[in-house]
Amino acid sequence: MSRPAVLVDAFGRRHTDLRISVTDRCNLRCTYCMPAEAIFRPREELLAYEEIARVAAVAAGLGAHTIRLTGGEPLLRRDLAALVALLVAVPGIDEVAVTTNGLLLAEQAHDLAAAGLRRLNVSLDSLREDVFERIARRRGLDRVLAGLAAARRAGFAEIRINAVSIRGLTEDEIVPLARFCRREGFHLRFIEFMPLDAEDAWDRSRVLSGADVRAVLEREIGPLVAETASDPGQPAVDYRWADGGRVGFINPVTRPFCDRCDRLRLTADGQFRNCLFSTTEWDVKRLLRGGGTDAEIAALLRECVAAKKAAHGIDTPEFARPARAMYQIGG
Ligand code: SAM
Ligand code: SF4
Repeated sequence: MSRPAVLVDAFGRRHTDLRISVTDRCNLRCTYCMPAEAIFRPREELLAYEEIARVAAVAAGLGAHTIRLTGGEPLLRRDLAALVALLVAVPGIDEVAVTTNGLLLAEQAHDLAAAGLRRLNVSLDSLREDVFERIARRRGLDRVLAGLAAARRAGFAEIRINAVSIRGLTEDEIVPLARFCRREGFHLRFIEFMPLDAEDAWDRSRVLSGADVRAVLEREIGPLVAETASDPGQPAVDYRWADGGRVGFINPVTRPFCDRCDRLRLTADGQFRNCLFSTTEWDVKRLLRGGGTDAEIAALLRECVAAKKAAHGIDTPEFARPARAMYQIGG
């Protein structure tokens, strides 16, 4: 299918993937993301499902064709399956995915699949309840595991597990997580810790690199063979073990993929962002609630894309963290 390629930035990058945060609320308090005591946006500030679907339709008209719902914890939004159904029906959108911590998945996996959701990423950093609780500041491992089993029963073909790697915290989780995912047929991906935590504890020395994690996996489990990426916008580098199982690495700090970035973001409170690390936002809620036309929404999105920087610049002296943390932006 030929698609409009209207969301091309100053560096020639074409934007086709829209990440939509549906809430900043969460039922965990992961140390790398949220503060221990979080203050959330009032509900009326969050975009309604119809508002989100309208923005998605405008973005699709400009060439976006994949959507990922995230948060905060997206499954905390009432009847998320209804939003999935609205988005799946938007002409031009050919894939809707969700990233979740999995705590509410056992209750919702069936309805999400029935609504047309095909791809699911579940975040899981440890298989030990004490470590899970140290990281997430809440208990919940049993519920995540029950959620994964329910997702399997609901028919999700490929379930990905995202695990954040933090030096001094997650080293002992690497091998058990990989063995579990290999056994269960989940596609595990390790993500480097980014400077987006609410408590500003990120430090370059705490980044456990994908290369270091891979070295542990090769030493403890066996040699890995790199796969060729089918999607050039794909930030992960995936590998396979000869005797089965895939594992991938998302290395935004040590191997930035900004030159291939195809992502745009919509925050739960209706702001466009052109990068996780944007320090500027474009207010689409004002248009949605102030009688703005679709053409005005499209113009705002183009303005946001046009202003995108070449790279996040984490390792440059001028790097400034965004004012909002991961749970407020949408990971
Ligand atoms: N609550 C859902 C979840 O945890 O999957 C969705 C939102 S969460 C912000 C999305 C992803 O961002 C999760 O996989 C989480 O581990 C990751 N994440 C959060 N903070 C991060 C950070 N500072 N660096 C790297 N990844 C982070
Ligand atoms: Fe919640 Fe996800 Fe952030 Fe953890 S990473 S606090 S589950 S939004």
